[in-house]
Amino acid sequence: MGHSDPVEEAALLDAIERWLEKEVRPQVMRLEHDDIYPREMVETMKQMGLFGAVLDPKWGGLGLSASTYAKIVMQISTVWMSLTGIFNSHLMMAMLVQKFGTEEQKKRFLPRIASGELRGALALTEPDVGTDIGAIRTRAVKDADHYVVNGTKTWISNGIEGGCCAVLVRTDPRADPPRKGLSMFIMEKGPGFTASRKLEKIGYKGIDSAELVFDNFRVPADNLIGGEGKGFYCAVSGLELGRINVAAKTFGKPIAQHQAIQLKLGEMATRVEAARLLIEQAARAYDAGQRCDMEAGMAKYFASEAGLENALEAMRIHGAYGYSKEYPIERLVRDAPLMCIGEGTNEMQRIVIARQLIERNPI
Ligand SMILES: Cc1cc2nc3c(=O)[nH]c(=O)nc-3n(C[C@H](O)[C@H](O)[C@H](O)COP(=O)(O)OP(=O)(O)OC[C@H]3O[C@@H](n4cnc5c(N)ncnc54)[C@H](O)[C@@H]3O)c2cc1C
Repeated sequence: MGHSDPVEEAALLDAIERWLEKEVRPQVMRLEHDDIYPREMVETMKQMGLFGAVLDPKWGGLGLSASTYAKIVMQISTVWMSLTGIFNSHLMMAMLVQKFGTEEQKKRFLPRIASGELRGALALTEPDVGTDIGAIRTRAVKDADHYVVNGTKTWISNGIEGGCCAVLVRTDPRADPPRKGLSMFIMEKGPGFTASRKLEKIGYKGIDSAELVFDNFRVPADNLIGGEGKGFYCAVSGLELGRINVAAKTFGKPIAQHQAIQLKLGEMATRVEAARLLIEQAARAYDAGQRCDMEAGMAKYFASEAGLENALEAMRIHGAYGYSKEYPIERLVRDAPLMCIGEGTNEMQRIVIARQLIERNPI
């Protein structure tokens, strides 16, 4: 991951701020309540290079560090969290190709991914498989120079508007443990790979979450990323960046200003600041190429719980206005619980943290 130039970082954050205030903030209420995909905003995000934010400039990316990227996610989430989902899920897919792909795969996919022409997500979840990704059932069977894919993925971000996905599938049904039989492919939509339906949500509106169906879909063997049996490792590595950014997204939660509730405000502000420090620490470790599953897990767990608590407190502070669809707080309350579930539930984060704690502190 790159190291961002401070002057360029300030200029980019400034340009994003101006865009948010001029083009985004006035539109959020309408797009959110009508659940409309923000097509024009996606075009602007393409022009700003956000779909290639952390990709190498060699492939058309901006080459930003995870730290700068986390700042961008925090900044945009403050106005509308859904926008960040459109490029964050996409970048998890992109980073898998950049990190584990062959030169040929990078040439074929990364320039279109960086420009936002080809958008997508990391597709892990299935109707019967969430946290326990080792149990994935979507099957890919080798047939000459292709694999034939059958199965269903669900809750996939960008599933309708996007054109491709990094998809985790089972290539070896006999592997022991089962996770060793998983492989990752980059797949472009085509005959046999379609979005079957858009899923309705209480929050995180505007961005499409879809069910994807693979019906004898033929993917070229050249699209296998990282080799057969390496899919689980690729997926876990892809989620690290995602978790830092789920943590950063929780900054959309406002802190009400009211003299009579300073105790609440004090607690809320402290939670926000502690979350920010954990995010910065995780992003620094990521940028330095260090193992950071514990740091990313702590940031994700703490910041998302803080976001949920702060959103509920903000609702209480604002009384009936907090419950009204005419103000943004009800949206924050609807959006915040997702951050406790996505990119690995907070229950799993605590288990990851504890395991690392034990491993790093042998008796
Ligand atoms: C809006 C939205 C967008 C999403 N986008 C994507 C996407 O782009 N790509 C994608 O692949 N997925 C996506 N997801 C799916 C998301 O990652 C899963 O919902 C999440 O991984 C949890 O899986 P699950 O819902 O099946 O819950 P389950 O795994 O069934 O978990 C249910 C409960 O059991 C607990 N639990 C499960 N296993 C354990 C365990 N071993 N130890 C302790 N507790 C455990 C969990 O913590 C949770 O409390 C999205 C979901 C939503 C809602």
